[in-house]
Amino acid sequence: MPLALKNLNQNLEPNRSSLITLTDICKSYQLGQTKVHALRNINLTIEAGEFTCIVGASGSGKTTLLNIIGCIDRADSGTYSIDSVDVHSLDEDQKSSLRNTKIGFIFQTFNLVPVLSVYENIELPLLINPGISRQERDALIMSSLEDVGLQDKRNNRPDQLSGGQRQRVAIARALAGNPALVLADEPTANLDSLNSHKIIDTMLELNQKRRITFIFSTHDDKLMSRTTRKVVIKDGVVAL
Ligand code: ADP
Ligand code: MG
Repeated sequence: MPLALKNLNQNLEPNRSSLITLTDICKSYQLGQTKVHALRNINLTIEAGEFTCIVGASGSGKTTLLNIIGCIDRADSGTYSIDSVDVHSLDEDQKSSLRNTKIGFIFQTFNLVPVLSVYENIELPLLINPGISRQERDALIMSSLEDVGLQDKRNNRPDQLSGGQRQRVAIARALAGNPALVLADEPTANLDSLNSHKIIDTMLELNQKRRITFIFSTHDDKLMSRTTRKVVIKDGVVAL
């Protein structure tokens, strides 16, 4: 195992140090002749165990920020560390290993594989890790299904579930590998108000129960009051 990841594994106790530290992060996109400044000098620290909401209008930079935190995208400048590991110093293999073992993702459009059952969808990211036996996998999947209350739907396909249930499957998939961090990019944008609140309830419960750090984004002001910490982003700048 690379040294950087070894250090990461050793240092995940809550409150020992910040889980995430972003310093002067900038990211821009070239769109034809125009340069779009998606993030401008973002400074943000997130402690292990926090439940943080990133709120901002469409186009404010939420996805760009979460993609950088999730090691899917890379900042143009600034520094980013997860538990004192400098992410920019990792090569692609180390970054993908970090993503697979430490970070769970939940998306706006659920991103479930339609031809697979609920059980198989949750199993999919676990198959990447050869260190997990079939038995262990089964235990992880069943425990995650129980956490989101969908044990009885394990053999159903996504199209046989409601939107709220599909997003709960996506939560179970994000959690099954016991990540330190879960990133949820507008997970409630395709749900009605009742289901949006249920999804937040489920994530809050899991944050408490499993001590997993959550960062979720929304453009819905009503949802941000549900979390302990909110970060308002406006035109690529942290406003609060
Ligand atoms: P949000 O998730 O808050 O809606 P984004 O992070 O997706 O915001 O986008 C921030 C800004 O960056 C927007 O102006 C958007 O148009 C621009 N942007 C995002 N991704 C790209 C891309 N791949 N190419 C060009 N511009 C992009
Ligand atoms: Mg977005």
